[in-house]
Amino acid sequence: MQFQPTEDQKAFRETAKRFATEKLASSYQERASGHTFDRALIKQMGALGLIGADLPEEFGGLGESSVTSGLIVEEIAYADFNASYVQLLGSLMGGMVAQHASKEIASEWVPKVVSGEAVIGLGLTEPRGGSDAANLILKAEKSGNGWRLNGEKTSMSFASQADAAVVFARTGDPDAGARGVSAFFVDLNQEGIKRTHFDDIGTKPVGRGSVFFDDVFVPAENMMAEQDRAFGTIMAGFDYSRALIGLECLGAAQASVDETWAYVQEREAFGAPLVQYQGVSFPLPEA
Ligand SMILES: Cc1cc2nc3c(=O)[nH]c(=O)nc-3n(C[C@H](O)[C@H](O)[C@H](O)COP(=O)(O)OP(=O)(O)OC[C@H]3O[C@@H](n4cnc5c(N)ncnc54)[C@H](O)[C@@H]3O)c2cc1C
Repeated sequence: MQFQPTEDQKAFRETAKRFATEKLASSYQERASGHTFDRALIKQMGALGLIGADLPEEFGGLGESSVTSGLIVEEIAYADFNASYVQLLGSLMGGMVAQHASKEIASEWVPKVVSGEAVIGLGLTEPRGGSDAANLILKAEKSGNGWRLNGEKTSMSFASQADAAVVFARTGDPDAGARGVSAFFVDLNQEGIKRTHFDDIGTKPVGRGSVFFDDVFVPAENMMAEQDRAFGTIMAGFDYSRALIGLECLGAAQASVDETWAYVQEREAFGAPLVQYQGVSFPLPEA
């Protein structure tokens, strides 16, 4: 088994590091108070191959491994935690659409995710609670050659900015839990959709918020996976995103440790730099 990064992975990591250092780090604070993420930066990330590198080449991806996407996420998060969400969501949602949406939808949308032209959100969590995700109540009812969605999704990343979303809805028995849940690819720029954003204490540009669906029509061909069985099928891919979230946190934590090392060498107290005091310098190598 090979534990060292390949030459390609080293190149991706280097590109991500350079972009993070030159384009993200110094302007991070400026962006951190906004509720949307700068689209121009998303496109720049796309142009450099820093979004959804692991997505299939058939849909504009680079066909790299998930390890490559993890390396990119970690480097980007070192400079801007919020920007790393763009790559995380690109891999997660791009992968979901490539695997479970119709060929037409995947061919139209996945390349746009990879290039940074489009952001696809995830509409799973509802106000009654997110952990018990399968017990969702947002309803999809048959209507002509499609479905009508009514209800609310909340806590959605990029809620006010996403161009489309994969929305999980109840199509079957309300008491059937995960069985009875279907997934739809929904264009978010259409009548009947209202969006808000939360005033989160951190990660503001990720723009977590609610999306309200009032009789929103979704064509039948936008259903993903199998009717009433989408939850189990699609959620199986979620574990990968959890690993990416871990790497995001690792990148940001490493930046904090590095900044602390620099600071304690520079800051003096009682006639010496803080780093010379064991109460400060002993815990730091363990971090
Ligand atoms: C930054 C961020 C981005 C997000 N982006 C998205 C997104 O794009 N799309 C989306 O759909 N959702 C998103 N979410 C929502 C996320 O998936 C939910 O926050 C998560 O599922 C938890 O749900 P909840 O916040 O409603 O907490 P709850 O489910 O209400 O849980 C509250 C507390 O109860 C505890 N708890 C719950 N169940 C149990 C149990 N069985 N045993 C013991 N303790 C339990 C939990 O650990 C927690 O401490 C995002 C959340 C965050 C913070």
